[in-house]
Formats: sequence, C-alpha cells, structure tokens
Amino acid sequence: IASLAGRRVWITGHKGMLGSAMVRAMAGEDAHLLLTSRAELDLTDKVAVLAWMEKSRPELIFHIGAKVGGIHANSTLPADFLHENLLIQSNVIDGAYRTGAEKLVFVASNCTYPTDAQQPIAEDALLTGPLDSNIRAYAVSKIAGIEMCRAYRRQHGSNFIAIIPPNLYGPGDNYHPQHSHVVAGILRRAHEAKVAGAKELVVWGDGTPRRELLHVDDLASAMKHVMLAPTTHDLYNIGCGHDLSISEIASIIEDVVGYEGRIVYDKTKPNGTMRKLLDISRILELGWKAEIEEKSGLRSAYDDFLARYQSPEM
Ligand code: GDP
Repeated sequence: IASLAGRRVWITGHKGMLGSAMVRAMAGEDAHLLLTSRAELDLTDKVAVLAWMEKSRPELIFHIGAKVGGIHANSTLPADFLHENLLIQSNVIDGAYRTGAEKLVFVASNCTYPTDAQQPIAEDALLTGPLDSNIRAYAVSKIAGIEMCRAYRRQHGSNFIAIIPPNLYGPGDNYHPQHSHVVAGILRRAHEAKVAGAKELVVWGDGTPRRELLHVDDLASAMKHVMLAPTTHDLYNIGCGHDLSISEIASIIEDVVGYEGRIVYDKTKPNGTMRKLLDISRILELGWKAEIEEKSGLRSAYDDFLARYQSPEM
C-alpha cells in the first residue's frame, strides 16, 4: 500500500480505546474514513454487515471492534465473549473477501498464546499448548480470527493479517470497577483510595505475575505501519519488548496518581498467566518500535481518567 491518502479505510470499533486511538492516528493522512457506530451497524448481524460493505466498499480495514474485558469479565462471561467475537469477526473477515478489500489487519490478543510458551513468545508458539482457563473462551475466539486470516490468504490469496498486542492502556480505557483490565482497574482504585484518604490499595492476585504494557497510541501507530508495509508474514507481535510485575505496575500507578498508602493483595482474584512477554523481532525488522514509556503513558491515561471520571459513563 503506497499511501493512505484517498483510500477508503474502515475502522471497526472506532469508539473504543484502540479504535479511537486509530482514528487519532489517521489524522492528517487524508484518507476517506468509514466509521460505523453500533446504532448504525450491528457487527454481529451478517446480513447488515455484508449489505453495508457492498455499499461502502472499504478498501483497507482495521478490524478492531470486539467484545473485550479484563480477567474477571472473561472468567465470568465466557459465553458472551466467545459468541459475540466469533460472529463479528466472521462477518467482517468474510465480508472483506466478498467485497474485495485490498488489506485487512485483525487485532488478536496475547492471551492466544499457551501459558507454558517460552519467553519471549514468538509468533510460531501459537497453538502449541494449553491456554489459561480464565480467558480461554475469548482466546479461542481470537485464535479463530487469526486462523480465518490465514485461511483466506491460503484459499483466496487475500492480504489479511493479524497482530498480537500485549496489555493495552491509555486514553479512552474502560474503567469499569469489575470488568476493566489491570492498568485501568488499579488506576481507578488508586484514585478512589487517594480521594477517600484510604490507607490501603487493593490489587488483585499476589502481585507476582508479569505483564507487558503498551500505550494505545503506540499500537495505533504500529497498525498503520503494518497496513502500509510490505508484510510477508500473516501474524505480528506488537509490544514494547519488556514487562513489569503487577506490583511494579501498581507502584508506578501510585506514583502517577499521587497515592501514598499501602498495597494489599486480594488473593481470591486470579493471577492468570504468570508471564506473557512478546518476542517483537518480527515487527522491529519491519521498521517499527514503541515510543511511549510507561510513566509518561500512564500520566496521559490518568489525565484522561480525571477528565471523564465524573461523567455518567463511568
Ligand atoms: P490478562 O493480562 O489477560 O490476565 O488481563 P488483565 O489486564 O485483566 O490483567 C490481569 C492480571 O492483573 C492478573 O494477574 C490480575 O491478578 C492482575 N490485577 C491486579 N489488579 C487488577 C485489577 O484491578 N484488574 C484486573 N483486571 N487485573 C488486576
């Protein structure tokens, strides 16, 4: 793809954290953005999706829209995650083939890798071992999406690829008290503990699992890069190349929020996978690297949180 200028670019899920970062990343590209809200187009509705795609003819597709949530949401609502995501990605990916899209980038997840994968995890570790049971349903839906891209490449020669990000955070995150991901969950509780003058901050699990964090604006820039680049592989890990323990993440968040109490661990909540650091050699070779380091990235997330905290959606 020579340039995005004048191209019909569809970003699914553009109101979510990553989708809105993708829209920001497209500013100044002079692309013809196609954005569909849930009210306009229900991505689980096969007939509606195909009809919309036939009419709108997206040429380049960032398929981001999916049902997402943290470890607790995934372990309590597995049927919803599996069912909705299978429908959505099946409609979008098959629709992309039927309506002749030139390239599609599908966003998968680091939970697709086996829990016993060798660290850092290379792309070819996919489907080599068992998955974490808390998030298996969601992970299987994402594996199906990766395999769909591969299958359409093999059977139809479609230029469909998938990417695997680590744990994301940044502006537009979901701060739901139970359903959010680790950064958002701890950030919200640290803020509320500070405001309440509480002496303790509760962090789930025992603090020892490690997670690689990536700011959404970094991921959006990487997705633009892979859309334009002559990708030869069908799967790319996109990360920052290092991870932090949950207790390290919690203490950086305490710092950013300005909370000075003690951290206590709620061991009734699952640790999940102990470690899932991505091997990023493939994306580095393609000429992209992450630029936002955790401390300043977490500051931008906290600013966004503060701006939205009193709003009804929170
Ligand atoms: P995962 O990376 O797919 O497991 O998803 P999460 O982003 O939900 O991260 C889960 C890890 O962070 C587990 O080790 C949790 O025990 C730990 N954790 C600590 N506090 C929180 C929190 O407030 N919310 C979430 N979601 N996870 C937390």
